[in-house]
Amino acid sequence: MKGKRAGGIGSPVAPSAIDEIMQAKFAALGIANEFDLVLHLPQRYEDETHLYPIADILPSDKVVQVEGTIIQSEVMYRPRRQLVCQVEDGTGVLVIRFFNFYGSQVKAYSIGKRVRLLGAVRQGFFGAEMVHPKCHMVSTNTPLPDALTPIYRATAGLSQETIRKQIRQALARSDQTDSLKEVLPVGVLKRHQLLDFRESVTFLHQPTADASVDSLQEGTHPAWSRVKFDELLAQQLSLRSHYQKRRSRCAPELPEKNLLTITLLKLLSFDLTRAQKKVLSEISSDLARPYPMQRLLQGDVGSGKTVVAALAAFQAIKNGYQVAIMAPTEILAEQHYRKLSSWFTPLGIKIAWLSGSQKKQQRQDALAIISDGGAMLAIGTHALFQDQVEFNKLGLAIIDEQHRFGVEQRLALHTKAAKTGLVPHQLMMSATPIPRTLAMSYYADLDVSVIDELPPGRTQVVTKLFEETRRDEVITRVRESCHAGRQAYWVCPLIEESDTLQLKTALETYESLMLTFLDLKIGLVHGRLPLQEKSAVMERFKQGEIQLLVATTVIEVGVDVPNASLMVIEHAERMGLSQLHQLRGRVGRGAEASVCILLYQNPLSENARKRLRIIFESTDGFEIARQDLSMRGPGQFLSARQSGVPMLRFADPEKDADLLAAARIAAEEILRDDSVSAQRHLLRWLGNKSQYLQA
Ligand code: ADP
Ligand code: MG
Repeated sequence: MKGKRAGGIGSPVAPSAIDEIMQAKFAALGIANEFDLVLHLPQRYEDETHLYPIADILPSDKVVQVEGTIIQSEVMYRPRRQLVCQVEDGTGVLVIRFFNFYGSQVKAYSIGKRVRLLGAVRQGFFGAEMVHPKCHMVSTNTPLPDALTPIYRATAGLSQETIRKQIRQALARSDQTDSLKEVLPVGVLKRHQLLDFRESVTFLHQPTADASVDSLQEGTHPAWSRVKFDELLAQQLSLRSHYQKRRSRCAPELPEKNLLTITLLKLLSFDLTRAQKKVLSEISSDLARPYPMQRLLQGDVGSGKTVVAALAAFQAIKNGYQVAIMAPTEILAEQHYRKLSSWFTPLGIKIAWLSGSQKKQQRQDALAIISDGGAMLAIGTHALFQDQVEFNKLGLAIIDEQHRFGVEQRLALHTKAAKTGLVPHQLMMSATPIPRTLAMSYYADLDVSVIDELPPGRTQVVTKLFEETRRDEVITRVRESCHAGRQAYWVCPLIEESDTLQLKTALETYESLMLTFLDLKIGLVHGRLPLQEKSAVMERFKQGEIQLLVATTVIEVGVDVPNASLMVIEHAERMGLSQLHQLRGRVGRGAEASVCILLYQNPLSENARKRLRIIFESTDGFEIARQDLSMRGPGQFLSARQSGVPMLRFADPEKDADLLAAARIAAEEILRDDSVSAQRHLLRWLGNKSQYLQA
């Protein structure tokens, strides 16, 4: 295999060792060099080290091995074509069945042959049986292997045998190559009680006979711990070194102007919560520093992130620097624009508005006041990232719902501040809480602030599940609620595959609800509506002129209408957990007791049932995120990060939280004391990918 990585680690082996076709097949498994090959660790193990007497085995999921002589063999055609044999071992008889087989197998499995079988036993019509066991021919004295058999992730044309052989050879030459050489400082190994790296990897490929099968299968064996630790360490080294590198860049110092903040706070009709004060002081002291802030502000829906963002913006503006606030949807951006205008305009601060759908003239006016500094605050959608947008003096960029923006977009912000020669501070906000362990691993290059309480006076939203067949009852509730002076949302079914279908569904839902609720004032809002119409509808809903708002999931983020206290979500079983949580967060914002009705249609898939149960039982965004993580893995939390941050293959931040904590400490030590080790370790694990995001 060819080593693609620079430097001494993972050096290439003789090209003759493996031909090109084979190389392509290994490449399909993500194996490009010697280090990748030895790190192609077993997915699981099979225990072929001992035999069970047939009489002793009971039907279960457990895989067992037996050996015996074929006493009966025939091809049967009912209910479908199959090869059925009986195997006898002196203690009992076992039936084996093959549904896919070659003619050659029929010959091979003939009466009198001795076979060794590995599989799970189930209860068949004629007693114990194995379906498609792993099967090979033996003679009476074929020895049993003395170690567990590793099973690898394979691919078409690349058998277990071939993979095993290549790995065996790579392990054998690993004392001449650097692929498994110890690169960590002795002190770190000692402190964290780590096994030697080469020993660990070798052991995982070729465990000894006395190895604990369970700890190997479950990944808790110390040899696994070493590999996982190294992987987590590489991630931490990479992210923490970026974290430190950022501190060497220059940002404008924007100290707090106490008196002025008080002015703004007076304009608000409420006091900040304890949690808001805490995160505000974290942000505020970051802004005063001479290097760029990169802070992620997490807080459940409705926890009050906007006012924190506004106060941060105010601090920058009062220091004479501009602020950009971007949001992923026009509705949300527009809402920020209105809210912040109401706070800032009385203070004489001018705000520019930028969106993809605005008229050319408006856009040019906005661009002009952004670049000449006439506007101290610019609010908008993705349009704010575009080339033509040039700031006079950008000091702070605030990104709402950060997970919807990509790394490139955040990078683009740096160039926006080119005029000042300084890097702007960045505040990212997210209402999709990232579980703590994930934040500690994948987000280790950021500082994290958490708003962990809701403003006082909120009533818990009561969640109710209604099967579609009870739609009439739901309609009655909506009518009663609206007649009692409250307002409601009706969320249309989600059609993932197609925007056009989604739109059609929304229109149909709207039309049928119009007929159902002849007595109510109904509005419709969806993503395809031009912004002006969208905001007109939202405004009328806010003013109470619309009683029932039919909406697609565009209202998922940010929409804030306190008098709306009832939400109906159609086909809730199609939606993801965080989406349901976000949607539900639109109600329960006022003093009125709020209800969220999830309409679902049977039959439910197992996952849909689970999701509905979780959302029914919990209103805590962090708890829901944790459950979501355990159901779906980290992908959804990391969509925007995936391009930049190396994904973990072996370690699981949740299950391996102890190792993660240790790796975090070790990374700090190594970065401080031993930059050579840090470099070697990064090169080994990440190759040239270690130069990832600078955003
Ligand atoms: P989110 O964190 O979801 O973005 P918002 O910033 O939209 O939440 O705030 C939700 C609602 O709570 C808004 O109507 C806001 O004005 C209100 N709010 C924010 N902070 C407080 C507070 N400390 N006390 C009372 N209401 C607050
Ligand atoms: Mg918000």
